[in-house]
Amino acid sequence: MDLLNTLVDKGLRRELPTRDEALAVLATSDDDLLDVVAAAGKVRRHWFGRRVKLNYLVNLKSGLCPEDCSYCSQRLGSQAGILKYTWLKPDQASEAAAAGVAGGAKRVCLVASGRGPTDRDVDRVSETIRTIKEKNEGVEVCACLGLLSDGQAERLREAGADAYNHNLNTSEATYGEITTTHTYADRVDTVNKAHAAGLSACSGLIAGMGETDEDLVDVVFSLRELDPDSVPVNFLIPFEGTPLGKEWNLTPQRCLRILAMTRFVCPDVEVRIAGGREVHLRTLQPLALHLANSIFLGDYLTSEGQAGKADLEMIADAGFEVEGTDQVTLPEHRASGGCGSGGGCGSDGGGACGSVPDVNEPRTDLVAVRRRGAGTDLAPNA
Ligand code: SF4
Repeated sequence: MDLLNTLVDKGLRRELPTRDEALAVLATSDDDLLDVVAAAGKVRRHWFGRRVKLNYLVNLKSGLCPEDCSYCSQRLGSQAGILKYTWLKPDQASEAAAAGVAGGAKRVCLVASGRGPTDRDVDRVSETIRTIKEKNEGVEVCACLGLLSDGQAERLREAGADAYNHNLNTSEATYGEITTTHTYADRVDTVNKAHAAGLSACSGLIAGMGETDEDLVDVVFSLRELDPDSVPVNFLIPFEGTPLGKEWNLTPQRCLRILAMTRFVCPDVEVRIAGGREVHLRTLQPLALHLANSIFLGDYLTSEGQAGKADLEMIADAGFEVEGTDQVTLPEHRASGGCGSGGGCGSDGGGACGSVPDVNEPRTDLVAVRRRGAGTDLAPNA
């Protein structure tokens, strides 16, 4: 296909595709899907080989948020039965982080619900970062604390943070339909603050919120312009009790096209499959490793992922390797600038033995609220 040859050539040269080319990737047929994956896979391997970077989420503060992001189980008024707790102490966070590192994670992502941190919160997180870094040599730490005020990014950097995450989530045109308590411009401002402080910027999107192909292309093009080092691609987990709880509109094939489009537009950037991997890619997860070079190990902020061991097995079975702390994630030109069981017959899936699930049916059975790890007395999944 001419389109794919063109996109591979451009990806290897880090040349921006046209909007029409990006839209055409999203419009490809299922018959062409493996060709799309193979083409984007060439770009992925050129810049990242067969390495998969593992990241581990630690939810420092869960729920109780005053903001109204429609997709979020921690939002104001959320009826989702998630864990709710206030700030983990540095030692508690460090213990959770250590479990992820022992499971193979190279980066720990410290996340807290809320509009943004107070200066006292920054002190608290700074102490947590120092504790984690002392106890886990070589680990990368990314903070994700919401909108930053002047000077906060610098203070996090001084405490040893390597990166800061703040997602754009969706296009500028539709942002107001998703959230009313802050703006798209606020989000862009925080990503720029992180950049300016010398932190590696991490910013991504959420697909599956009812957006159009044009919206997806808009947000990915905006991300390319912002130039983050990593782009997490989330697939909406439609939590019961949130405004988007009925938005089941992704298929595994669509997820692959979205990841491929992201790879073509951001060829040399760490593209991470983030929340919703198991729920929406399901048995096609291994194919997505040909597109993304990074995943989260184990559980998400408020929902459970597949067993950490299953993540590692999937990577090995698909012919990829977990990236070690002695390997540099980003290509040289970027790195120099910064830094099972339980299923089967009789399980709660509800289907009869041997029945084939309808790919277009909402898979609410795959959404499990996190009840283990950070904020609980139970062992984490890593
Ligand atoms: S995404 Fe962040 S700011 Fe928005 S409701 Fe959830 S925790 Fe609050």
